[in-house]
Amino acid sequence: MSTAHTPPHTPTDLLIAAAEAHSARNYDPLPVVVATAEGAWVTDVEGRRYLDLLAGYSALNFGHRHPRLIAAAKAQLDRVTLTSRAFHHDRYGDFCARLAELCGMETVLPMNTGAEAVETAVKTARKWGYRVKGVPAGMARIVVAGNNFHGRTTTLVSLSTDTAARADFGPYTPGFTIVPYGDLTALRAAVTENTVAVLLEPIQGEAGVIVPPPGYLAGVRALTRERNVLFVADEIQSGLGRTGRTFACEHEGVVPDVYVLGKALGGGIVPVSAVVSSAAVLGVFRPGEHGSTFGGNPLACAVGLEVIAMLGTGEWQERAAVLGDQLHASLRELAAEGRVTAVRGRGLWAGVDIDPAYGTGREVAERLLGRGVLVKDTHGPTIRLAPPLVVTAEELRWGVEQLRAALG
Ligand SMILES: *Cc1c(COP(=O)(O)O)cnc(C)c1O
Repeated sequence: MSTAHTPPHTPTDLLIAAAEAHSARNYDPLPVVVATAEGAWVTDVEGRRYLDLLAGYSALNFGHRHPRLIAAAKAQLDRVTLTSRAFHHDRYGDFCARLAELCGMETVLPMNTGAEAVETAVKTARKWGYRVKGVPAGMARIVVAGNNFHGRTTTLVSLSTDTAARADFGPYTPGFTIVPYGDLTALRAAVTENTVAVLLEPIQGEAGVIVPPPGYLAGVRALTRERNVLFVADEIQSGLGRTGRTFACEHEGVVPDVYVLGKALGGGIVPVSAVVSSAAVLGVFRPGEHGSTFGGNPLACAVGLEVIAMLGTGEWQERAAVLGDQLHASLRELAAEGRVTAVRGRGLWAGVDIDPAYGTGREVAERLLGRGVLVKDTHGPTIRLAPPLVVTAEELRWGVEQLRAALG
């Protein structure tokens, strides 16, 4: 594929052509081929540098190849990398204990990808419903929000409202009720005696960084407590420092029953996800009922432990809060100038709706690529900014300047 910013047959074009020849087209990447990366910056195969303002959709909260995380991974590579859960290994107990402590909870069930962790939360809630709440066999229901993103498995696309994510992948898993996000009245009406969980993103990432109305999460907490329903917070993208707190739920002083974590938990090195809850809730599992060959492996635990230690001091959360204020102030200026029609988000996380007069989200992302900045569009006019938390104030200022320039 030839691209606007490079002549044909550059190393970039050749590598993209090779990828397109032999890869399923399940993504539509921007035309850049990354070769190396460090901190907030990546370098492509032709030596051009880019400020990464996407950070792997929050999988790279600590930037690329953070020295502490790389050191933890390297040390573990020299010891043991995989045992399977058939045996114990010496990092596992510590990982579960430290992660539970970070979450203010008791029990951890580690998996690998985010989607697997959400699937695990669905199974947890159903089994809890049957064994603890007393829901009749096969009747458990889970309430979810419209425009959610919880992953790509057949069950998780069953509860999606995104046509592209769903169409042609049925038949769909039953047992889910979808209500509008942010609407407590609709949620209250949807909860029945057979409802076992309300599953929500405390801020909807993929939908365009949608922050619910004030009081919504607290209202969900009160309703679920009153009706003996588990509040499952999918903090895979919003959690672990991104919003200026360890968890986005904290902005409303809310503690859910279950956290679902992923992305940044693996330090941008290995996939690490987990469901974290009380001993009563995760205690429903017996040997043989759930598992994963790679879940909780020594390398994952070693990297995850370092991520948890880094978050334990609160410095990263503070950094995301301070830099986030700067980011949102400068984005509000773009809104005041009429270049963007809406800015949403919290901390170092923003959904920016581009005035269509300046092009689609994709076009703006391509122009930014030409200016040395990586972002990704989501849903037509919106671009998503999720800078790594290692970004500096100066780099952020420069990045927003490039956005201003890309908007004519
Ligand atoms: C990314 C994401 C997932 C899925 O994680 P994968 O690791 O891609 O399977 C689930 N929920 C939310 C909120 C996410 O952002």
